[in-house]
Amino acid sequence: MSGIIGIDVGGTRIKYAVMDGERRLRFEGARDTPPETDLIGALCGIVARLKSAAGPVAAVGIGCPGIIDDDGRILHSNNIRLKNFNLRTETETRTGLPTAVLNDANCAALAEYACGAGAGVRNMAMLTVGTGVGCALILNGELYKGFHACAAGGHVTVERAGKKCNCNRGSVGCLEQYASATALLASAKRAARRFPDGLLNRSLKNGGQLTGAAIFAAEAAGDPAAKRCVEEFIVSLGAGVATILNLLRPERIVIGGGVSAQGAALTDRLAAYAKDKTFAAFELAPYEIVPAALGNAAGTLGAALYAEKICR
Ligand SMILES: [Zn+2]
Repeated sequence: MSGIIGIDVGGTRIKYAVMDGERRLRFEGARDTPPETDLIGALCGIVARLKSAAGPVAAVGIGCPGIIDDDGRILHSNNIRLKNFNLRTETETRTGLPTAVLNDANCAALAEYACGAGAGVRNMAMLTVGTGVGCALILNGELYKGFHACAAGGHVTVERAGKKCNCNRGSVGCLEQYASATALLASAKRAARRFPDGLLNRSLKNGGQLTGAAIFAAEAAGDPAAKRCVEEFIVSLGAGVATILNLLRPERIVIGGGVSAQGAALTDRLAAYAKDKTFAAFELAPYEIVPAALGNAAGTLGAALYAEKICR
C-alpha cells in the first residue's frame, strides 16, 4: 500500500514523515524552515527525498500555522508570511501528487483524536502551547473548522485591559499573551532579574537556557519566583480552559506543546482551577484535562491523516 507524506511546517522547523497503512510514521526527519520565498522549493525537496526512500506515495498532507481555507490557500498567518497563497495547488503542480493543507493545531488534534489522548470521546478540544496558543475542536466526532477554517482560541480575552497582542488592530489581553511558552519564558526571565539569588537566575548565569522544564523544576524545588511564574501561567491557561468548557462542554481537553511533558502535574492543577470557573462542574461528571500523547509526531501524523481523508 502506498504511503502518505505528512509535513508539519513550523515557524522555525519543518518536520516530515511517511505514514504507512497502519498509521505508523516512517522516514521521520526535520529541517530548518527557510524564508517564505524558498518554502515551496523546500517542500518539493522533502517530497522527492521521501518518495525515493519510501517508494510509492499516494498523497501529501501539509500542516501550517495560520488560517487556511478549504482549498489550501493561506489566508493569514503570523508565522509564515504568505498571504493569499495557495499552498495546495503550488505543491500539487510541482510534485504531481494530490495535496491537502490544514491549520497545524487542527492537524495535531486530528492525530490526538485518532490515536492519542483524544481517543474514545465524541467532543474534544486541544490547546497547543508553544510560540503562541493554538486551538482545535473536534465536535461530534468531526473536526470543526467554523466559518474561517480553524478556531482561534489562543485569542480569547483573559485580561480585559491586558497586554497587546499582534493578532489584530488594538487587541489586548489574549490568552496566548499569558499562557504560551513564549509568555512563560518571558515572565521567568523577568523574575530571574528581580531575584538574582533565585534558581531561575542561577540557571541563566550557569550558561543554561531557561526552558519550560527548567521553570517547572525550579518551582518543584521550592523557588518562590518560579512558583509565581508557574501559578500565573496556570491561572491564565486555566481561564482559557474554563472558557472552552463553558462554551462547548467537550468531555476532554488535550494540552499539547512542550509543557505537556509536565503531565498530570500540570493538567491536574489546570483541572482544579478550571473547575471553580466552569458552570455546574461540582454537580456533573468531571471533564477530563489531559496531556497530549503523541508529542512532536502529532503534527506530521495529523497532516497525513487529513490527506488520507481528503485525497483518497
Ligand atoms: Zn490575540
